[in-house]
Amino acid sequence: LQLGAKGAYIVRLLMVGDSACGKTSLVLRFDQNVFSTKFVTTIGVDYRDKMVKIEGAQMRLQLWDTAGQERFRSLTSNFFGRADGFVLTYDISNRPSFDHVIGWMRDIKTRAPPDCDIVLCGNKSDLDNDRVVTYDEGKLLADEYGVQFFETSALTGHNVERTFTALATTIKHKR
Ligand code: GDP
Ligand code: MG
Repeated sequence: LQLGAKGAYIVRLLMVGDSACGKTSLVLRFDQNVFSTKFVTTIGVDYRDKMVKIEGAQMRLQLWDTAGQERFRSLTSNFFGRADGFVLTYDISNRPSFDHVIGWMRDIKTRAPPDCDIVLCGNKSDLDNDRVVTYDEGKLLADEYGVQFFETSALTGHNVERTFTALATTIKHKR
């Protein structure tokens, strides 16, 4: 890991996954502890800095929030090569977003550094009545890829901080 000017380790994290699964909302919940029902289409890549303390070490998480649309894929894939970690998100109330996890995994494996870390994130856990992807399906898929798994809700904040800190902790231990 690269040591930044303020003595903090710099960790590059990319948000990936289908459009509207809650990538931007997760970043906003984590960074500002807010939630909005507004869906603002991310154009290309948004960027945010978030300082966290992991096991006594100061870490600067650089959160790159990408757009899920096909037309931005080539653009965002340029960022893949320099990533330390990925938050791969799907929506538990949207079956196609879960089916597309395989494609996102393939993108990561072909474009990202081989030692990068991934956390699979089943978002919108608050929408339990509309759930179409079970917890066990998500967990099983994550186990197949050997990655961490959390169900989250950007609306309630459930597991949001945990998802980012778990990923940052794994990255810290590896490097
Ligand atoms: P992105 O395209 O992946 O960045 O998705 P957004 O963060 O823009 O969210 C898309 C829509 O889903 C917005 O209307 C959000 O308010 C909503 N949303 C995001 N996260 C959650 C969540 O955890 N629960 C619920 N109920 N809605 C969410
Ligand atoms: Mg977005």
